[in-house]
Amino acid sequence: MKKTKTYLHNPGYLKVELMLKGIRVDGKVLKKANLDKCRDVANITCGLDIILPHNTWVTVPYADDFVNDSPYELIESEGKFFVRGGTESVNVSVVPTPKFYRLKTTTGISLSKIGIVHGGHVAITPATQCDFFNKEIECRYCAGNPDIKGGKGKTYSVEDVLETVEAAYKEGKAEIVYLSIGFSETPDGGIEFLKPYIKAIKKHFNTLIAVEALPPKENKWIDETYAVGADSVLYNLEIFDSKLFKDICPGRAALIGRERYLNALQYAATIFPNGTVASHLIVGLEPIESTVAGIDFLAGIGVVPILPLYKPSAGAKLSECKMPSTEVIAPVYGYLYRAVTTNKINTSWVRDISVVTTPLEGRFFVDDNARMQTFIQNFYKSKLGLKTAWSLATLRRKLRVKLDHSD
Ligand code: SF4
Repeated sequence: MKKTKTYLHNPGYLKVELMLKGIRVDGKVLKKANLDKCRDVANITCGLDIILPHNTWVTVPYADDFVNDSPYELIESEGKFFVRGGTESVNVSVVPTPKFYRLKTTTGISLSKIGIVHGGHVAITPATQCDFFNKEIECRYCAGNPDIKGGKGKTYSVEDVLETVEAAYKEGKAEIVYLSIGFSETPDGGIEFLKPYIKAIKKHFNTLIAVEALPPKENKWIDETYAVGADSVLYNLEIFDSKLFKDICPGRAALIGRERYLNALQYAATIFPNGTVASHLIVGLEPIESTVAGIDFLAGIGVVPILPLYKPSAGAKLSECKMPSTEVIAPVYGYLYRAVTTNKINTSWVRDISVVTTPLEGRFFVDDNARMQTFIQNFYKSKLGLKTAWSLATLRRKLRVKLDHSD
């Protein structure tokens, strides 16, 4: 029988492998990890959140059919969990399904519909509408949300969102709130809509907020995004190659334009602190050379490239596209790590994300000894580090807004 190569002893490689191939897991093991009810929880991606060595978080598919071919299995022994591949295994932690998923808001909405936790983040989309769907120019890889096709989607109130954040924080499940919004016709890119949510969260919680949006038409809205309290902003270009961008993201290309993405990112990097402006480039939807050119460009203008792996999802127009192998992907993450360090981009903000390999995790793909980076990461993971990050962010914003108003 042919022996399948596994990557148990490098957390970076193992994270990519698990994201691509998933993990086999027995029902009894799921039960021991308090995950037996996951399938019952509505609308939650049933990925297992696993913490690999070196505090490397990963969300691993385990309920899809393709995981039956995975060389990796989750096993349990004497209360400890291990990822086994062939005859070897590595000790890991399994993150139980958050208890707050079973709670409801006072208006009766399941909190699991409003906020999803992966890694140290709670991700919230207050309005589930994306106008691209109604114009049939949605991004070709996007399966979207069935609720929004041909309709107006749902909007959660500020109170609904606050209750969700409170529950996630009380349970110690999140440190950063990700607020996202799809395409809307307004020139502000949706920041006016998000503003009351950002202000209310900042008022009630000592937390950092990242905003994921499509770029606004004018830079003054980027200033506004920072001034109202966002600590980090993501304008996800997704595809760097200009032709493929048009083909795969027809809505973004027609109604925003690649140039506007690049200009908005460049401007945002002059407004927000080093390392807090980021953009996704999806690995697997364009040639590797083009992803690499995108890394160079983004890192060169002070933007953190984040490289999610393309995963075909049912319902998306590109659902047949083939996933790249770990061997093809690994050098790109090494390249990413070198690009961010060469350009002196702070990698501490984009961390503990379980659904993508972070630039800092790129250190697992190079030979360099990245001890100092690890030290910084550990610092910002600590309670003291997070408090420091939050205080610095508040101070910097106050100074910036004051300076702008004194012009
Ligand atoms: S902007 Fe693209 S990826 Fe985002 S929700 Fe709309 S169609 Fe989907």
